Amino acid sequence: EVYTSNELRKKYLNFFLDKGHKVITSASLFPENDPSVLFTTAGMHPLVPYLLGEKHPFGERLVDYQKCIRTGDIDEVGDATHLTYFEMLGNWSLGDYFKKESISMSYEFLTSVLKIPIDKIAVTVFAGDDQVAKDIEAYEIWRSLGLKEEQIYFYGKKENWWGPAGQTGPCGPDTEIFYDTGKEKCCEDCGPSCGCGKFIEIWNNVFMEYNKLPDRSYIYLKQKNVDTGMGLERILAVINEKESVYETDVLKPIISKIESITGSPYNVENEREYRIICDHMRAITFILGDSKAIVPSNSEQGYILRRLIRRTIRMFKKLGIMENKLTDITDTVIELNEAVYPELTDNKSFIREQLRKEYALFNKTLDSGLKIAEKYINQLSEGETLSGVAAFKLYDTFGFPIEFTREIAKEKGFEVDLDGFYHSFSEHQEKSRTGAEGRFKGGLADNSQQTTKLHTATHLLNGALRKVLGDS
Ligand code: ATP
Ligand code: MG
Ligand code: MG
Ligand code: MG
Repeated sequence: EVYTSNELRKKYLNFFLDKGHKVITSASLFPENDPSVLFTTAGMHPLVPYLLGEKHPFGERLVDYQKCIRTGDIDEVGDATHLTYFEMLGNWSLGDYFKKESISMSYEFLTSVLKIPIDKIAVTVFAGDDQVAKDIEAYEIWRSLGLKEEQIYFYGKKENWWGPAGQTGPCGPDTEIFYDTGKEKCCEDCGPSCGCGKFIEIWNNVFMEYNKLPDRSYIYLKQKNVDTGMGLERILAVINEKESVYETDVLKPIISKIESITGSPYNVENEREYRIICDHMRAITFILGDSKAIVPSNSEQGYILRRLIRRTIRMFKKLGIMENKLTDITDTVIELNEAVYPELTDNKSFIREQLRKEYALFNKTLDSGLKIAEKYINQLSEGETLSGVAAFKLYDTFGFPIEFTREIAKEKGFEVDLDGFYHSFSEHQEKSRTGAEGRFKGGLADNSQQTTKLHTATHLLNGALRKVLGDS
């Protein structure tokens, strides 16, 4: 191996230290400064106030590593590059350097430090639209560093514009850096955005000079910032010439652990289940181990966590493992990460305890729920969808998260009527509310539990569920 994850992280931090940056350590997975998202999805979240102009105690040049969770990528998990939990390396200019220095430093790191040949690099640049001009400056900088015209691609807002997941806040055009695997072009228009696997996105440099307001207009920020983000697992896979992130030293031992539990080697037949278990157990461990703030529940972050755990349990069942092996995997995840994330060790018994509880809770209803689900699905004829009422029954009686039911149906070639599910869900809420009020009026029963349930149900419907089903 050229580098281990720890060496690579160090190389990165030291490179930017030498260029006048101060190191900040990873912030929590639960953003304090940004109520618009459930999890920290990029290094920028903890730094929002400073991007808006507040002075950072460490100055204007920062470098960091940040744990991230992207729930919007859960459906991608299983491919070579998308993880639910990953680590983002980033460097920052808070009103200091801008495009030229930023692009030059990224280029130097990739080609001089990591020794990636220049012809293996492809970049994308913002093409401009009716609101913001084409980023000729970024293009010229890349050209001056030696990139050929055909290594540079222009794309619009969808590809080359970065802003927070919430709709307002600091944002701007970006230039993204891809590794060209050298595979054949998939079509005439093949480029970094087509997703065929020829190009792997490794780094994104955002030139954050705008603030997007609630009325959707852009105004200039007080200062011009640079925000870059590079996925540790991806760059590690690239420089070590691995097929996927699962072959890197932060994930491979987890795959091996699953092999030792099942007794079957990782292969094309079980690849999907192995990868999902591996990815989800990392996310689960990091969420539980962050600060003991979140436990499995039916609302917001707790619901995402529950959904990840329940899906993992089913993946194990699919592999024929009927006992609880979640804690075994968690131990491996902790061992691999405790040097950098000591909170995992501090919270180890809490993590194990929560996994035991959630496993016991779900294990009670999973098998009977699966039987009922199968019965429902077997009754469908081609082209039909699983009704919202059925999906709600699975949710309400057996604790099947809606995405869980969707996946089971999909494996048999069927969709679920989501609108119908939401309808049943809110209808149920109405009923519970009447029930609670009725009892309250009579002055007989303690309705506090009912109120809690209503509260979480409302959260689930309005918050997490929508966010999960939509894109982050
Ligand atoms: P992609 O197009 O591959 O989904 P992205 O454009 O959504 O990536 P950015 O928001 O630009 O990603 O994040 C910066 C960097 O973080 C990416 O260039 C990539 O290296 C890494 N990254 C993003 N999403 C993931 C993920 N789900 N798993 C692992 N690394 C990721
Ligand atoms: Mg993405
Ligand atoms: Mg991208
Ligand atoms: Mg990107």
